[in-house]
Amino acid sequence: MLADTPDPRTMLQSITAGLRTRLEGEGRAGLTAVAKATPDAEATNTIGERREYPAAPAAGSDAGGSNSTAVAPPALTPEAVATTIKAEFAQQVPHEARTLDLFDFSSVPEDSGVSRGEALARIAAEVAGCDRCRELAAGRTHTVPGQGNPHTKLVFIGEGPGEEEDRQGLAFVGRAGELLTKMIEAIGLTREQVFICNIVKCRPPGNRTPMPDEEANCMPYLARQLEIIRPPVICALGGTAAKWLLQTHDGITRLRGRFYPYRGAQLMPTFHPAYVLRNYTPDTRKKVYNDLLKVRAAMDAAV
Ligand code: URA
Repeated sequence: MLADTPDPRTMLQSITAGLRTRLEGEGRAGLTAVAKATPDAEATNTIGERREYPAAPAAGSDAGGSNSTAVAPPALTPEAVATTIKAEFAQQVPHEARTLDLFDFSSVPEDSGVSRGEALARIAAEVAGCDRCRELAAGRTHTVPGQGNPHTKLVFIGEGPGEEEDRQGLAFVGRAGELLTKMIEAIGLTREQVFICNIVKCRPPGNRTPMPDEEANCMPYLARQLEIIRPPVICALGGTAAKWLLQTHDGITRLRGRFYPYRGAQLMPTFHPAYVLRNYTPDTRKKVYNDLLKVRAAMDAAV
């Protein structure tokens, strides 16, 4: 009977085509409609002004204690984790082998004694008291753990809170968030049907890109959120989220548009809505729309 089994890729293509026809029939013109609804798309967005990582401190001081004879194993500090990750990057092993947590969500037992909503609320409470990243904890107004439907099949993961998110304690509520709402609606969903969160839960100062040690510090929270929600489909918004989750140096332009296995889920990287706002071309919008159609089709196909 194997010969009768449809090729999943063919199935996905046909579901995607059907979905496109259905959504367009319903009067949704995907991100073309978003284009019309957002006339000032070129304006600066919440994470529009990026700074590069600060320069690394100069090497040279004897921080490692070279006088000692016994070689102690490296401490498992966030810095050490980040260094290990960087070394792994350099090896250029396939994406599939590079995710930080190798266990599928399904292999993590569900806690039957507590609802998913309660479990997520407990994580949010831990995040609220977190001071693993001194600079971020000192500069934040609110932590932004993420919000949405604990039983969703789809989780969106962005980079980190911007100014408005920091003010409200909610993910994607600034200008990029408004576009994300339209992107979600373009595939026939609402924000209430999905879960939306970020790689880091505190706003990096000046909206700079989170640093690897900050991403590593915050990863346990995200990992646990995903283990609770167990989404079959994840959409990584932008290069920072996609590179961190897939542990690759490849940029978003190269990564987007196809699924990658991630802890038993299918992960689709696509452009960050802030990038879409900055590059509001028909080509960018079409690419994001097509990526999201695949996301919707994979969701619908998931049991
Ligand atoms: N950009 C992000 O990556 N996340 C947010 O929550 C808002 C803007």
